[in-house]
Amino acid sequence: MTKIGIVGLGIMGGPMASNLLDAGFEVIGFDLVTSSLERLSAAGGNVASSAGQAAAESDVVITMLPNHPQVEAVALGEGGILDSAKPGTLYIDMSTIRPETARRLAQVGGDRGLRVLDAPVSGGERGAIDGVLSIMVGGSEEDFASAQPIFAPLGKTIVHVGPAGAGQTVKAANQLVVGGTYALVAEAIVLLEASGLDASVGLDVLAGGLAGSRILELKRKSMVAREFRPGFRIDLHHKDMGIILDAARDAGVALPVGNLVAALIASARAQGYGQLDHSALLKVAENLSGK
Ligand code: NAD
Repeated sequence: MTKIGIVGLGIMGGPMASNLLDAGFEVIGFDLVTSSLERLSAAGGNVASSAGQAAAESDVVITMLPNHPQVEAVALGEGGILDSAKPGTLYIDMSTIRPETARRLAQVGGDRGLRVLDAPVSGGERGAIDGVLSIMVGGSEEDFASAQPIFAPLGKTIVHVGPAGAGQTVKAANQLVVGGTYALVAEAIVLLEASGLDASVGLDVLAGGLAGSRILELKRKSMVAREFRPGFRIDLHHKDMGIILDAARDAGVALPVGNLVAALIASARAQGYGQLDHSALLKVAENLSGK
């Protein structure tokens, strides 16, 4: 039976591990948070004492960590994944990180006889729980094909988008659209309510027309109710806006709206909303209008 190591069992990694267990894989996980390890154990998984141990005992290793410093520490650090995994192991980083770090992981991993993919995801906590994530994969065709049985229980739209790092560039484009959509849905709610209208009714109509989106479909009720439990934290979207603006600089493009969205998200953080869901951009829109 294929044994899967998974490092990072938070909002996304936790349910992903459960779905891999439900699909019949043997799973060994590691996280710094004890309650996450207990959840894995309760779901039938094994607990490793380090990322290196999870890698050493697995055929496939997945990381689902906050950002590139954690991925670098866990994968490239002494006794980490690349040091400990057996040659031929498939290492899939599913975190959202800089494309250049993804390319470095592929290079260093390849030099050590590992197969490496970058496979960030979209679809949020709900998508992770339901196993219907969109997975954008960078790496070789061959490694992508061999990872299909691993991706199948996790996602619905699973696409090979190019060589190493390409998955992360597509994810950056995804986060640009998600951030901009939240910012505009927030402004629509402020406009509707300040005009004396019921925002729920207004957004119901929007959701059925050209303005419709997954965000309106899934989040309009919680936004109107000012329910901002994460989900996806503002702090993580702030990190993603940095990745997007770096990618824009590298590609020599301007992204004027993207820069504005980055400023709104930075403002949300500065106002103390970093641990709230990114739909809390509504608070920034309200504050800007004195509402
Ligand atoms: P999270 O903070 O809930 O989970 C990250 C986990 O990594 C935590 O449990 C943390 O304890 C663990 N961790 C951190 N450093 C570690 C280390 N050195 N060793 C072992 N474990 C360590 O974050 P999340 O929301 O699950 O996001 C994970 C990644 O997925 C991020 O890159 C994020 O941008 C991306 N993502 C998140 C969502 C979402 O909706 N939450 C959606 C798509 C993509």
